[in-house]
Amino acid sequence: MKTSEIRRRFLDFFEKNNHRIVPAGSLVPGNDPTLLFTNAGMNQFKDVFLGSDKRDYNRATTAQRCVRAGGKHNDLENVGYTARHHTFFEMLGNFSFGDYFKEEAIQFAWTFLTEELGLPKERLWVTVYKDDDEAADIWINKMGVPADRLSRLGDKDNFWMMGDTGPCGPCSEIFYDHGEDVPGGPPGSPDDDLDRYIEIWNLVFMQFDTLADGSRVPLPKPSVDTGMGLERLAAILQGVHSNYEIDLFQSLIKAAMRVTGCQDIENRSLRVIADHIRSAAFLIVDGVIPSNEGRGYVLRRIIRRAIRHGYKLGCEELFLNKLVADLVAEMGEAYPELAEQADHAVKVLILEEEQFARTLANGMAILEAGIQSLEGKVVPGELVFKLYDTYGFPADLTADVAREKSLEIDQQGFDEAMQAQRERAKAGNKFKLDRDVDLELDGATEFLGYDSLVAQGSVRKLLKD
Ligand code: ATP
Ligand code: MG
Ligand code: MG
Ligand code: MG
Repeated sequence: MKTSEIRRRFLDFFEKNNHRIVPAGSLVPGNDPTLLFTNAGMNQFKDVFLGSDKRDYNRATTAQRCVRAGGKHNDLENVGYTARHHTFFEMLGNFSFGDYFKEEAIQFAWTFLTEELGLPKERLWVTVYKDDDEAADIWINKMGVPADRLSRLGDKDNFWMMGDTGPCGPCSEIFYDHGEDVPGGPPGSPDDDLDRYIEIWNLVFMQFDTLADGSRVPLPKPSVDTGMGLERLAAILQGVHSNYEIDLFQSLIKAAMRVTGCQDIENRSLRVIADHIRSAAFLIVDGVIPSNEGRGYVLRRIIRRAIRHGYKLGCEELFLNKLVADLVAEMGEAYPELAEQADHAVKVLILEEEQFARTLANGMAILEAGIQSLEGKVVPGELVFKLYDTYGFPADLTADVAREKSLEIDQQGFDEAMQAQRERAKAGNKFKLDRDVDLELDGATEFLGYDSLVAQGSVRKLLKD
């Protein structure tokens, strides 16, 4: 079953069950400063859950494009390393606004997977929030899931939050076992992160609103928000393990081979490029342009990371923009706005590629020379800082290269160099105050954007993940 057909089947199933098919929202959330990019299907319904917005339906279903490359849910560093993470993906969801609750939500999900799609029950595994006896009881006694295929997990896995504030609640998740050939254990076991059991669907029982001071107040009505990754479901239905093996990604990977000249379809960099062209192009279509702060900076990081992977494959020409046409061929039908704005996306990408090409070549040469002469396993913070400050080579790219070579970055040294630079800028600023008030900002804007908005992406965090 092709990815596009699966999307259709999902929406049709819920429409048949009295859900309104609602068009997806933009990747740039309207009027919500707490959110960097749309990261889940429920975002556009946030105020409906909170009770401050009313619709003329109380059941909805969507296929929502999402980007998780910053903020609370950030998968940028997972791309290329796991079988299941993208920066851009589509989330299929069904929603109840004060209508049905746990039992129907579980019933719908189970029926869709096991009857509508015919997935074998013995391949499925479920989790519930640790003290959610009600959900456990529905799974075991009403759906007939064996008790030994259900795990109770804590806040990290089974309490879903959109961000630090906003609607949230305990959740129940469905996993698919890709079989003994893949290393890894069931949810809750020590090696559950190894991609044998892949999480496919999250059913969130929306019950609370988290306020800015961290306290939680009950929502006006218990509601349901679910999200299932279209690409993960497609992998199962197409009999492959990794999302990158599905029809859509294979086409993009082959296109990436064509434009970069890489012959090895298994090369990890091709997966990164195939992933990043989707997030980059869709972000541009939704109005973001590369810049040095905020959303634009995250887009810039994504594009530059893709370019770096092309460079790694030995590609010396501009290549990323050429993939827009291939993306339109794959997704233009489902997303007419992508087809309409393809030329704009190409232009934006060409500009960014041209601008970054020289920076990249210089920076990589200096970094590689530095790595060659390393004694130990730690890239000195001063070098990371010099690359960033003098050559405009972003610290997260240095971290990315270091990780590939199993090296660490001297974070403390980097922070100290940064601090010293800030103090120099401040001193310089005082001196020239009436001539150039913006001096300090000039020196620090890029880093501040990266540091604050992509808070989770600080170099230290990048390396830990
Ligand atoms: P994981 O634990 O695998 O990182 P998650 O728990 O962060 O996933 P949720 O926030 O529960 O994901 O999102 C609901 C669903 O969206 C997931 O069950 C999965 O199918 C899909 N999904 C989440 N993140 C990604 C991603 N980065 N790429 C592709 N699909 C994703
Ligand atoms: Mg995640
Ligand atoms: Mg999870
Ligand atoms: Mg989840």
